[in-house]
Amino acid sequence: MKIETKCLHSGYTPKNGEPRVVPIVQSTTYCFDSTEHIAELFNMPMECMYSRFANPTVDAIEKKIAQLEGGVGALATSSGQAASLLSILNLCSAGDSFISASAIYGGTVNLFAVTLKKLGIECIFVDQDSSEEEIQKAFKPNTKAVFGETIANPALSVFDIEKFSAIAHKNGVPLIVDNTFATPILCRPIEWGADIVVHSTTKYMDGHAVQGGGIIVDGGKFDWTNGKYPDFVQPDESYHGISYTETFKEMAYIIKARMQLMRDFGCYPSANSAFLLNLGLETLPVRMRQYCENALKMAEFLESSEHVVSVSYPALKNDKYNKLAQKYLPFGCSGVISFCIKGGRENAVKFMDSLELASKVVHVADIRTCVLHPASSTHRQLTDEQLEAAGINAGMIRLSVGLENIEDIICDIKKGFDAIK
Ligand SMILES: *Cc1c(COP(=O)(O)O)cnc(C)c1O
Repeated sequence: MKIETKCLHSGYTPKNGEPRVVPIVQSTTYCFDSTEHIAELFNMPMECMYSRFANPTVDAIEKKIAQLEGGVGALATSSGQAASLLSILNLCSAGDSFISASAIYGGTVNLFAVTLKKLGIECIFVDQDSSEEEIQKAFKPNTKAVFGETIANPALSVFDIEKFSAIAHKNGVPLIVDNTFATPILCRPIEWGADIVVHSTTKYMDGHAVQGGGIIVDGGKFDWTNGKYPDFVQPDESYHGISYTETFKEMAYIIKARMQLMRDFGCYPSANSAFLLNLGLETLPVRMRQYCENALKMAEFLESSEHVVSVSYPALKNDKYNKLAQKYLPFGCSGVISFCIKGGRENAVKFMDSLELASKVVHVADIRTCVLHPASSTHRQLTDEQLEAAGINAGMIRLSVGLENIEDIICDIKKGFDAIK
């Protein structure tokens, strides 16, 4: 099946007489005929047992997204943050470290630099545009993973997945890629050598701003028996002595995440959330194409405006990341653009407050155009130094171009510029 077809048909195939649309299974628990059957489920958790870590409606979207990304399995979470957290905790314990590109989502910077540090896990940030030799210096004997974002939010840098996959694998560790902005419609990191993919499904996948969620997808190719991941190989005492690699083979990572971490943390989405997410997934390919088309027109308009110092949109010919975008994102770079307004923070605020159509919200990747001033909102917690490392200027505006008619959106942006004349 091609990706448009997978968006509609993967994950759930009704049998004779069953509902056409994936049903909302609003039940915390499931009945079985015998204790023996339940015992088998504890050995091989292939059916739903309890909704803290498995549910049939959620299972349908897990299977769908795994197929969209070309992975062997997926684990849905109640937020994108939870997906990033579990993707790391599944590999790192206190005393370990991992490497992350510094141009990533502000919430993830906080999670990695502050909260994981309190748990004894060190994140070493690197400039993703550095040479391989430079990045190699960040590796230590206790390094367990490498992390980056396909299109960074809000810096809009493009991550060189093949370069990082090569460095990670040379050091015997997996590459995790946050593919939220690209979605599997525009880029499939596993095809470029990533091992694990995470998403905030709150963004384009849901698309309608109706529910938050996240997901972890396992590429299934990494060799966890290389000596660096004893937790995958040795018997897990908390799971009646199972060895994940021996029992679950290429699904070791994703089943360990579910049966250890989701079991213990329970940050699992509800059936209702999964149902709504599925509606978004069904139209994702059509929407992504239109976002890309509208955003390119908008980026070209901004580039020609006298009020704009710079525009970041990787699909623009003279964008710093255009070459990488042509390689990894040949069909377009999503709907998110960032640009810096002449006159810095003060004019940025005037511009924002004069818009009428664009929603001022702490959100991106919605069906409606939305706009945000990161320095005074999502990235408030970052120091100026961290802001700069994440590629953010105080006059920067993050514009998430929606699916309105592009002429109406440009008209609204002109109103904003009129206010700073
Ligand atoms: C929003 C976002 C997250 C966090 O997702 P939530 O669903 O808000 O928890 C992580 N990564 C990226 C790239 C994001 O845009």
